[in-house]
Amino acid sequence: MSRETSATKRRQELAANLAAVEERIATASAAADRDPDSVTLVVVTKFFPASDVRLLADLGVQHVGENRHQEAEPKRAECAHLPLTWHFIGGLQSNKAAAVARYSDVVESVDRAKLLRGLSRGADGRGRPLDCLLQVALDPGDAAAPGRAGAAVPEVVPLAEQVLGTEGLRLRGVMGVAPLGEPPRPAFERLAEVAARVRQVAPDATWLSAGMSGDLEEAIACGATHVRIGSAVLGPRPTIK
Ligand SMILES: *Cc1c(COP(=O)(O)O)cnc(C)c1O
Repeated sequence: MSRETSATKRRQELAANLAAVEERIATASAAADRDPDSVTLVVVTKFFPASDVRLLADLGVQHVGENRHQEAEPKRAECAHLPLTWHFIGGLQSNKAAAVARYSDVVESVDRAKLLRGLSRGADGRGRPLDCLLQVALDPGDAAAPGRAGAAVPEVVPLAEQVLGTEGLRLRGVMGVAPLGEPPRPAFERLAEVAARVRQVAPDATWLSAGMSGDLEEAIACGATHVRIGSAVLGPRPTIK
């Protein structure tokens, strides 16, 4: 197949997948008595090339998500001219926080105070604050399982207060990933409760990022304002890159 034909085919595939996801968002919003415009679609482009990001932007996608710094940084640079908002949704090392803050518009995976100095340093000089979400560990019970991303529930409000006190960062809300092997609904309900507690100290922190390809309906039912959708738009991720 010629390069042009395969690009056309990929565009059609992405357009059809996007339409199906938008339909799911509309149906889930209606079921929850919500305006579908209150849900922002973040298309997770990790493992997929900049050429797909270009096609998505052309198809009207406004938000993309990446989870690995070493992949996100060059892809972001290659797509610098596109009118996109870039969400960083992956685990962050504190020595990479400043670099991630320089090219991201939103960092959704802020889960410990140790990251704040680097994020603040990277945000400095952008001319506008860096939007931050606190990633909450949604394992049942209060203790975050070791090695899992996210702040344990009791640590979230203190972390929110620290973000509020950090120059260059703007606290927008919380993010969570439903634990594997558990029905997502109770996890998203826990996340919504944490979000409400965060809003008591930060009334502007109204974003709730929850829901992926497999569970966006449950997330929207629990109040998600942002859904992070990878495979339902881009197809199965390549296993090796
Ligand atoms: C990869 C990823 C997603 C997207 O997952 P899909 O199941 O492919 O939709 C969402 N959130 C985070 C944090 C991810 O790492």
